[in-house]
Amino acid sequence: MRTAQIAQTYLNYFKKHDHLVVPSASLISPNPTTLFTIAGMVPFIPYLMGEQTPPSHRMASNQKCVRTLDIEEVGKTTRHGTFFQMLGNFSFGDYFKEEAIHYAYELLTLPVEQGGYGFDPEKLWMTTYTDDEEARAIWRNEGVDPEHIQILGMEDNFWTTGGPGPGGPCSEIYVDRGPEYGKEGGPIADETRYIEIWDLVFENYMVDNVKSKTDLHIAGELKHKNIDTGAGLERLAYLLQGKQNIYETDEVFPVIEAAEKLAGVKYGENADADVKLRVVADHVRSALMIMSDGVRPSNAGRGYVLRRLLRRTIEAMRVLGVMTPVMPELLPVSEAAMEPNYPELATTFHDVSEAAYGEEDAFRRTLTNGIEIFDVAVKQAREQAAGKQDAQPVVSGDAAFTLHDTYGFPIELTLEMAQDQGVKVDEAKFRELMNEQKSRARQDALKKRHNVDLSEYDDFKNKMQAPIEFLGYTDMTSRSR
Ligand code: ATP
Repeated sequence: MRTAQIAQTYLNYFKKHDHLVVPSASLISPNPTTLFTIAGMVPFIPYLMGEQTPPSHRMASNQKCVRTLDIEEVGKTTRHGTFFQMLGNFSFGDYFKEEAIHYAYELLTLPVEQGGYGFDPEKLWMTTYTDDEEARAIWRNEGVDPEHIQILGMEDNFWTTGGPGPGGPCSEIYVDRGPEYGKEGGPIADETRYIEIWDLVFENYMVDNVKSKTDLHIAGELKHKNIDTGAGLERLAYLLQGKQNIYETDEVFPVIEAAEKLAGVKYGENADADVKLRVVADHVRSALMIMSDGVRPSNAGRGYVLRRLLRRTIEAMRVLGVMTPVMPELLPVSEAAMEPNYPELATTFHDVSEAAYGEEDAFRRTLTNGIEIFDVAVKQAREQAAGKQDAQPVVSGDAAFTLHDTYGFPIELTLEMAQDQGVKVDEAKFRELMNEQKSRARQDALKKRHNVDLSEYDDFKNKMQAPIEFLGYTDMTSRSR
């Protein structure tokens, strides 16, 4: 089954069970505390919180998500992408635990010809919350081997919003990939062999006084209990397609193939190169999807996350030996792989690609200026650390300063590139050199003005020249910025 079909199977199943299927919301989070939509439930928060009436008490979606929290895992684990899709079914005061568990188990185990995924029940494992004997009984009733139902504490299997609001126990579903992938004993023993595919959250409590994940107070039972579930589409796809990880699925692998050709390397022959190829495929797709939702590279917020994804792609390809522009080769491949599920990409792609190619050109100009100095600094850092036990390679503050001062490398770029290469930067020394340079500049300016310190006057002059912002509608005074 292709990824798009796996998504469709999920939505068809829940449509058959009276769910209103809605399209994915934008990746730009409606929630001001996060930059991106990080889970399928985010667009449904007002319904879960009881703040708005939902158009239906049963809903389902395939939500585009971006999680930068997992960025360091990308390419290294089999299951983390910066962009991924979360399938979800939701009940707002309608069905509860019994139906939620039944639906999940039936969809996973029903044969493909009957509209399910056809997983072997013997391969499925569940975790449940300590106090949730009810959930364990329901799983057993479904026919699950009691040994495959494990128990976890509040830290792992109790969900809250992070503050006062609805909360409740959850139950996670895992697929056993087999003994060749790790040790026996279920997900509690090994999360590499047993892959989490689906999380079912049973929101039945009103929670308050949340000090931490495990230090909270249950204020009472909710009148309207909710179900909120999230299944990772890429994880389902890699397991159902018999692949080794989420980057080898039909929506992602074409970019690995294109990058292999560009770099003249073969995927599967060198572990370090494979990580880079997976990072490239992941980041190109994330950049495409983020840009398609209207974000453009910048130095702050979402734009900065996007800029980092693009730079990391270009840098990874450079390490693989590709010095020519890569985005014109890789972005259209990702677009073609994603279009079956997201036809709107065809409309946005012209603008998206122009912006991405422009960003790469600008980044390459900066790179050509300082890359040799950077590479020498990394080499020196590694040589210096090589002789010493437990020493981590550190790029000197002097090198970081020269890169900034002479070659126009912003310190963030040096830090990111160093991180990609697994080395640190002596940032404290860099800042010290920057401060010295600033005070030298001030001394020079003083000399030119016959030792009269005009800095206060300069500050005042700058303030007076700043645009005056009219705040008359919201504030009784107007002030300058
Ligand atoms: P993990 O512990 O494996 O990182 P999680 O507990 O953070 O997963 P949830 O927040 O419960 O995951 O998300 C629900 C589902 O979404 C998961 O069961 C998984 O299938 C999928 N998922 C979560 N994070 C990612 C990711 N970075 N890439 C791909 N799929 C993901």
